[in-house]
Amino acid sequence: MYTIDRIYINGQFVQPHGQEWFDLYNPSKGDVIGRVRLADAQDTQDAIAAARRALPAFSRTSKEQRVTWLRRLHEAVLAKVDPLAAATIEEYGAPATRAAWGARYAADSFLNAARTLEAYSFTRRIASAEVMMEPVGVAGLITPWNANAGFICNKMATAIAAGCTVVIKPSEISAIQTQIVSEALHDAGLPPGVFNIVTGRGDVVGAELSSNPQIAKISFTGSTAVGKSILRAGADTMKRVTLELGGKSPTLILDDADLATAVPLAITSGFMNSGQACIAGTRILVPESSLTDVIRLVKESVSKIKVGSLQDTDSAIGPMVSQRQYDRVQGYIRRGLEEGATLVAGGEGHPDGLSGYYVKPTVFANVKNDMSIAREEIFGPVLCILTYRSEDEAIEIANDTIYGLQAYVISPDVNRALAVASRLEAGRVIINGAPHEPLAPFGGFKQSGIGREYGTFGLEAFLETKTVLGASTRGLQ
Ligand code: NAD
Repeated sequence: MYTIDRIYINGQFVQPHGQEWFDLYNPSKGDVIGRVRLADAQDTQDAIAAARRALPAFSRTSKEQRVTWLRRLHEAVLAKVDPLAAATIEEYGAPATRAAWGARYAADSFLNAARTLEAYSFTRRIASAEVMMEPVGVAGLITPWNANAGFICNKMATAIAAGCTVVIKPSEISAIQTQIVSEALHDAGLPPGVFNIVTGRGDVVGAELSSNPQIAKISFTGSTAVGKSILRAGADTMKRVTLELGGKSPTLILDDADLATAVPLAITSGFMNSGQACIAGTRILVPESSLTDVIRLVKESVSKIKVGSLQDTDSAIGPMVSQRQYDRVQGYIRRGLEEGATLVAGGEGHPDGLSGYYVKPTVFANVKNDMSIAREEIFGPVLCILTYRSEDEAIEIANDTIYGLQAYVISPDVNRALAVASRLEAGRVIINGAPHEPLAPFGGFKQSGIGREYGTFGLEAFLETKTVLGASTRGLQ
């Protein structure tokens, strides 16, 4: 049993003022594996005060100094990737390969931020003006459970690169991962107050961060509903916001694609992270004339997917994170059937021989884009197959959503895929399963968010722009 009763404020692990305890579960069995004592509004204010005190000195540190710290943070988290991956498996049911990738991603975030910082110039000349980019101030960083350590590290790395101090509010259901990451970050030896970590409820700690006048910026990753509430809460103090929200990403299999490779690729994109990924390709668009072949290949493809045995590197799908998420996914499978979609694979209930929060990887065909399973983010391994008659119609269906986070295009003709990509309303388009690029901007169109993370775009989201006129006679540094 884990007992986590420390938060991190001003360079020290301290007991929270908050009194509430919260249970932690192992999703593959559904039993309680620990408990965490939650921070409250008072703890959050203490953390904000510490970050505020650290800001004047930290915001004036040199680029070189911050690069050195970022490299130290990278080494510190790298030293903990094995326990971090193990905690990710135990606490949220990520399959082994996903957990290992996630832990490595968390560590590498600091290296990527260091690279971005090294190449970035905080001062530039525009006509007669000197333009300076300055840290925005104390930032509140709020993370979801589906990549808690990764988002803690990526958001913090970018803020540190910019010269901001931070208060981090991790997901309350990821406290074991947070504990491991906090210890690693502490080992890097940054000045007290530069980063503070307060695990607590969203409507308590998150709400305090979103409304506190000392917080200049919120970087949030989570659901669109909570993103909207943060935007509203931050309006009074005009907070800068980066919101990375939900998605209902389309995968367009173009009519020249080889279905035998395209279908398994589409299924893999849809079931990524057990379907609990904002970027999962959950609406698969196929030419109407290929539907019979697609259904045959989907059945074949899903039957080969291994569900369960999280330690096994062949296993692709783990359990849902919580009973709530399990119930939600079951609810959507029922609604799909009620709405008249055809079940091609999976269905309600647990997969054979598994209990806990495991669900059956499920695919529906004959889905119309106005069905709730095609419109709403399910956040589980439930995919929809929709048909189109022309490329224009495929693009129209793909764009007919409130979301716009990511899209996938599959075609042997890269120029054609690129032309389609240019017409899709999505912050990122992946052609033929291309790998992640951590230095390129990431973020959503429409209700998938505001702003971008990663690389220079992400860095500038933690900076204010100051124009100085009348200094044009002096040389720039
Ligand atoms: P969530 O919105 O329920 O919670 C996210 C975080 O916000 C948690 O730390 C939570 O405690 C906090 N929170 C809750 N209420 C709050 C409030 N009133 N004020 C401030 N903070 C509050 O999301 P989740 O269930 O943890 O994560 C799943 C969601 O995250 C999905 O919608 C998914 O698409 C999205 N997501 C988006 C991205 C992206 O990069 N766009 C990445 C991962 C996950």
